[in-house]
Amino acid sequence: MKSRSTNRSGIVMRRKVTPAGDIIVTLLTPQGKIKAVARGGVRGQQASRLNLFHHVGVQLYQTPQADLATVQQSILEGALPRLSEPERHPYAHLLSELADALFQEGEFSEQAFDLYAGSLRGVSRHPDPEWVALVMSYKLLALAGFAPRTRHCARCGAADPSHPDPLGGQLLCGACSNQPPHPPERLEFLREVPRRSVRALMDAPLMAEQRPAVWRSLERFVTVQIGSVQSWRSLVGGDVVGA
Ligand SMILES: [Zn+2]
Repeated sequence: MKSRSTNRSGIVMRRKVTPAGDIIVTLLTPQGKIKAVARGGVRGQQASRLNLFHHVGVQLYQTPQADLATVQQSILEGALPRLSEPERHPYAHLLSELADALFQEGEFSEQAFDLYAGSLRGVSRHPDPEWVALVMSYKLLALAGFAPRTRHCARCGAADPSHPDPLGGQLLCGACSNQPPHPPERLEFLREVPRRSVRALMDAPLMAEQRPAVWRSLERFVTVQIGSVQSWRSLVGGDVVGA
């Protein structure tokens, strides 16, 4: 008979404690996204290991009756302690929530894991974590097959639009928009972000005052195309972005 125990190594992208003291975690692994439960986890050693953004190795047990696999054992493989800093934590949270919304259970994607892991490392180390989060959000979207239309007006199809699209987060032509056009550097970023390498994008950051409009476009695009990303909303509406 085939063993129902499997070993996986991945990053905790979501964590929830139930009233019964179980910890339900969602891990992104190179083999795909996994949701599992550590029964009674908050009272044991699992509690400190199965923390948000930790890279953990887990032994999972799946029974046919249960819809969630059980975490039998876990070990900490890596942690990024700087992600708990207040200027970094919201961005790590946002990227995790976005990655969770973009990648489905059962989808095998080593690339998604590498990109998500790289984005957390960037947010933890880089002096400009907001820029890392903006660039990597677009890269995660592009990997999942979502890229805002920028060559043609999202409403009428006219070529080379340069105005914001306040509803859909794409671009509108002057005739379809009642807002002033994006300034040239912001427009260039919005057009080129799917094609340029992460390195090239990191080397040419937008000035801080240009970013709130990019966040708003991204928030609209994600909400319309994928669904609401909660931490995103609080970030865009709150005082972290553009502070
Ligand atoms: Zn138009």
